[in-house]
Amino acid sequence: INYMTQILTSLIMITNIFNTFIRTKASTERIEEILAGEEDFTGAGSPKPVITGELEFDNVTFAYPGGSGLPVLKELSFKINAGETLAVIGPTGAGKSTLAWLCLHFYDVNEGAIYINGNNIKSIDTSVLRKNIAFAPQKSMLFTGSVFDNIAWGESAMEAEQVIRAAQNAQAQEFIEKMPDKFDSVLGQNGVNLSGGQKQRLSIARALAKQAPVLILDDCTSALDAITEARVRKALKSLDTDRTVIMITQRIGTAMSADKILVLDNGVNVGFGEHTDLLNNCSTYREIYDSQIGGGLITHVK
Ligand code: ADP
Repeated sequence: INYMTQILTSLIMITNIFNTFIRTKASTERIEEILAGEEDFTGAGSPKPVITGELEFDNVTFAYPGGSGLPVLKELSFKINAGETLAVIGPTGAGKSTLAWLCLHFYDVNEGAIYINGNNIKSIDTSVLRKNIAFAPQKSMLFTGSVFDNIAWGESAMEAEQVIRAAQNAQAQEFIEKMPDKFDSVLGQNGVNLSGGQKQRLSIARALAKQAPVLILDDCTSALDAITEARVRKALKSLDTDRTVIMITQRIGTAMSADKILVLDNGVNVGFGEHTDLLNNCSTYREIYDSQIGGGLITHVK
């Protein structure tokens, strides 16, 4: 019986490793697809903002094809105007990243619709849609190549000034300047020589350099210290006022600085509004706040 158990355990382990591999590979391919979308762009400068950043989720329900079958987002509705900053906060597995993937139309929603600028994203050409959304995924995707090319990825005509400004706004310029060849320094595969925070800042710089009307940052300031993160936020605020920014985050400080906050819990919109409102009316938000600020401080004092 012991022998059988061992075989069974090994089989389960192999299956798990295989599943993880398939899933990692699938998301890597999706990310590459997005970036490949950018590569089609050969005109000089930035893509024309054919889309403004007004974004609406109207009663969206979504389950991953081939997943558990249970919806990951449930009857989700909210709307933000062009130029607003939205923070999406909630526990792990709440569906925050999924919301980003849906905005980029990697999957079709099962029910409801997503509108950008009043148009159902289903009716917008996918490559046009993705050219108008700059996306920094949760896991930085850096390649073997210069720092410059990593930031300008997909836009061969990008001016040096644009790359440098993006690096400045992402608080990356200082460490880049300390590298032996500065912007010409060559990174190892996936930025092996860089810290987590440095990789995140390069990803943010890449997204900023794209100058799209919608910017989605998926939890990409988690490895930054509080001061650097606050500087990135300040720089984001100073960007052109009609750019819509969606910051997926676990940090209450980030959420507090946004114009609107969406609180997701288990795929459901449990709160949408401003910080003070949510603090008073949304128990999930209050819990996150207490754990990071209220409760956190008390624990610290003790
Ligand atoms: P969050 O970003 O809030 O942590 P996610 O959007 O990553 O949440 O995940 C929401 C739910 O969807 C989780 O239960 C997760 O396991 C599931 N999920 C995420 N990606 C996939 C996928 N490619 N296939 C099937 N299920 C997925």
